[in-house]
Amino acid sequence: MNRFMKLAIGEAQEGIRAGHGGPFGCVIVKDGVIVGRGHNEVVKRMAYEIHCKNCGKKLLSYEKYQKKYKSPLASCKKCGTEYIDPRCHELAAEGIPEAEFSIKSDIVLLVIGALICWRGYYLFGMRMLGTPDSMQFLMPSVILLLGIGMIIAAIVDMIRISTGSKRRKYERLSEESRLRMEDESYVQKLKELEYLK
Ligand SMILES: [Zn+2]
Repeated sequence: MNRFMKLAIGEAQEGIRAGHGGPFGCVIVKDGVIVGRGHNEVVKRMAYEIHCKNCGKKLLSYEKYQKKYKSPLASCKKCGTEYIDPRCHELAAEGIPEAEFSIKSDIVLLVIGALICWRGYYLFGMRMLGTPDSMQFLMPSVILLLGIGMIIAAIVDMIRISTGSKRRKYERLSEESRLRMEDESYVQKLKELEYLK
């Protein structure tokens, strides 16, 4: 095998070891000299970290899509400085997100799930370049399960929307949020931390 190809595979393996994303690596060569190299970093780039403004302790690392409907007020375990957890939302302040009750995103999820299933099924029995033998069966299985998981999640969500159970859950969370917001000192803290204007 070409030595540059070996280096590219090494990059891909490095990415897997570091948990940065799927097994894709690359080496860019010009006139026999390496001018660039790298690997897939989709997982690494989607994750955010926040640190305590006072003591610098890592408070949390989270992914962009994460959303929770509870109090965003949290405090550093080391020094007690309060901060806003960006994953959390006060429904009484932000309002119930009506987009959650549209089945459009479920249909998109269903289609993507089906495509991923098809892809996983298609990869069975295919030799993937630079993939160790142990991964040849595992990878398509994982892809197939991911697709099936997405389809199930979409169907469950559509059932919850049509039976109204999803809306009832949001109304309950919204009521809890309203009770929290009745406390003026709590609202004041949210303003100080720039969660509320
Ligand atoms: Zn701190």
